[in-house]
Parts: sequence; C-alpha cells; structure tokens
Amino acid sequence: MLISNRVKNLNPYVPGEQPKDRVYIKLNANENPYAPSPKVQKAVMDFVQNHPEKLGLYPDPDSLELHAAIADMLNKCGGVLCRAQVNGDEVQPAPEDKIPFTVTPDMIYTGNGSDEVLSFVFYAFFDSSAKFVMPQFTYSFYPVYAGFYNIPMDQVPLKEDWSLDVDEMLSRAGRNGGGIIFANPNAPTSLGLTREQVRQMIKKASPDEIFIVDEAYVDFGGESCIPLLAEFKNLVIVRTFSKSLCGAGQRLGYIVANPELVNIVTTVKNSVNHFPLDAVAQVSGTAACRDLPYYVETSRKVAETRDDFYNFLKEKGFYVLKSQTNFLFARHPSIAGDELYKSVKEHGYLIRHFNTPGIEEFVRITVGTAEQMSGLKKIFEEIIQ
Ligand SMILES: *Cc1c(COP(=O)(O)O)cnc(C)c1O
Repeated sequence: MLISNRVKNLNPYVPGEQPKDRVYIKLNANENPYAPSPKVQKAVMDFVQNHPEKLGLYPDPDSLELHAAIADMLNKCGGVLCRAQVNGDEVQPAPEDKIPFTVTPDMIYTGNGSDEVLSFVFYAFFDSSAKFVMPQFTYSFYPVYAGFYNIPMDQVPLKEDWSLDVDEMLSRAGRNGGGIIFANPNAPTSLGLTREQVRQMIKKASPDEIFIVDEAYVDFGGESCIPLLAEFKNLVIVRTFSKSLCGAGQRLGYIVANPELVNIVTTVKNSVNHFPLDAVAQVSGTAACRDLPYYVETSRKVAETRDDFYNFLKEKGFYVLKSQTNFLFARHPSIAGDELYKSVKEHGYLIRHFNTPGIEEFVRITVGTAEQMSGLKKIFEEIIQ
C-alpha cells in the first residue's frame, strides 16, 4: 500500500483559476482589488530591513500583539468596517454595530487563512458520530473538510429566494445533534441573516450544539454576530483578512469566541503545527488592524461599486441577488452561466462559474475597482444585446 486509503478518498477544493498564460483581470476569487494600506507595506519593509535576524527565529507562538490588535480593531469598528464612523484617526462603530462588551485578546485565535482555521474548528467541534448541518449552497470548502475528517453532513436546501432556511436547519440540527455551520452573509449567494435571526436560532437550539458562523464577508454590509458571544457559549465566529482587509496573500484568518473554545482550537493547532503564523504575517496583520480608516474607506468603495454594478445588471435584464458582500450572484435569461463566463474570459476578465447542479445558470462576479467594473460593463454591453 503506497498511498493511504484516506488519501484515495479525498475530494479537494478547487479554487478560482489562476491562469499563467495571459494577464486577466481577476474577478473570480473575491479578492480585494485594493492593496493593503501603505502603513502595512511600511511595517513589513521596516521589519525585514531592521530586524532581519527575526526571520531566522521562531515567531511568537501566541501571537500576542496581533491578537490584541485584532480585539482592538473589533471594538473600534463593531465588526462591520463599511458602516464604521471615521473622524480623523478615530474609528467608532455605527450605533447598530456596537459590541456591548469589550472583546479581549483571549477571545481571539489566529491561523493561516480562515481555511486552516476552519479545518481546526471542524476537527475540534464536529464528530463522525453525528451529522452537522449546513446549507446546500454555501462555501464549498465545508464539504471538503467533512470528507477529510470523515464527518457526516446534512445539507439543507435554500429557500426559493436563495436565503437560508433557518427553521429547517434548526430542526435538523436538533434531530442530528452534530452542530451547524453557515457563512453569514452566505457564499455564493451574497445574502445575509440579521443578527436577530441568528440569535433566535441559537436560543432555540440546545446549548450543547455548536454554532459556527463564517463572517468572511460581513465587513461589506452584513450584521456581525460578535455581540451574541455575551449570550451564548456555543458560538464560534470565523473571520479573515483575505477579503475586507486586502490581505489574501498574507494568509491570515481568525476566530472570535469565548476563551474556553479558543483554548480548544489552540489545543488542536498545537497537535499539528506549533508555529502556524509566520512572523511577517503577524507584523502585517497587526499593522492592518491599526490603520482602520484605510480599510473603512476601501470597504465603502467596494460596497458602492457593488451597488452601482447591481443596478447595471438589473438594467441589463439579469436576475441578481441583493448582495451584502464583495461579489454579485446573477443569471441572465438569454445566456447560460458557462457561456457568459467563457465570453467574458475571451475579453480578458475572469469571473466564476460553478458547474454545481442548481446554480449552474449563475455566475459569481467579484467586485473590483470602479474602473475594472466599467470595463466589465462594456464587455456585457457587447455580449448581451
Ligand atoms: C474566502 C472565504 C474563506 C477563506 O478565506 P481565507 O482566509 O483566505 O482562507 C472562508 N470562508 C468563506 C465563506 C470565504 O468566502
């Protein structure tokens, strides 16, 4: 036996394509079109130039400075950047986003992108003895981890309007007893639940059942569930620097949860890799959290550009969901999803098409800069008469 049976049965995630043959405008992986803040660039340069010896030493295994900076960021913006209020260097949460307690560093766990964080969270809180619940159409990495860890899953169809079927998810979770995960706002549908909807859901569930809420896109207009941590001990919130913090290349994801749950995930991490976050990522992540005005502005720009492109798609006759994220999920009555994807690619733009039955009519378009989107408008004008 050269290869383990475990590996033979793997079904890995397929990321948005990254072709090398031609330079495309990439609107297919929900990356942020803006570079990290100039202060992040400077912090990384200073670190490499002035402390090269630190590149030869192990990084802080507890990432203390970074965890403090993340907690501070969440307290300042309330967990939703695009609505935060900026006054010079000061940032305050919008009144509806204010967290009614102080997020502390011991409520934060960080890892190499939220994908890695999610994998440890799956390992820590889901088990092969009970099915966990997730929406039928959601982040396609969840089923990959289910396969990897051999955890049975229970996929709940979405409602007709593509929103999550909260009642059905909850009743199945109660039956299975294996926990629940969803992205909020969800991907690839771009729709979110309100915090109150999530609150009602957790309230009705057993306190022994874990709730994992993936907030990868919440900064672009969703409602964060961080305030619910005061009320529920069985809630884990997963977030990332890859979308709203312009940091997909630095691989930085984190959870916000009560310290007991943070400790459990830390135990899993320390059983795999004691030093998962590299020193440069710790420096750049810390610098990003300390320059919130920049990220409030870029998140707002993305949200404005999104709403403008949403209106354009409607005018062009698309069926398009009202996005709270940095992407739009749309289909057109006169052109199939894969055809639209191919035509757009010929014009030098990459968008995402899923061959998944049920959503194959759709394309998912990441929101780029206003310039990139006006380029895409011209292409759509040409393709769709
Ligand atoms: C992009 C994304 C992630 C992964 O983010 P990384 O931190 O880059 O690993 C996780 N969850 C959802 C729903 C995403 O869209």
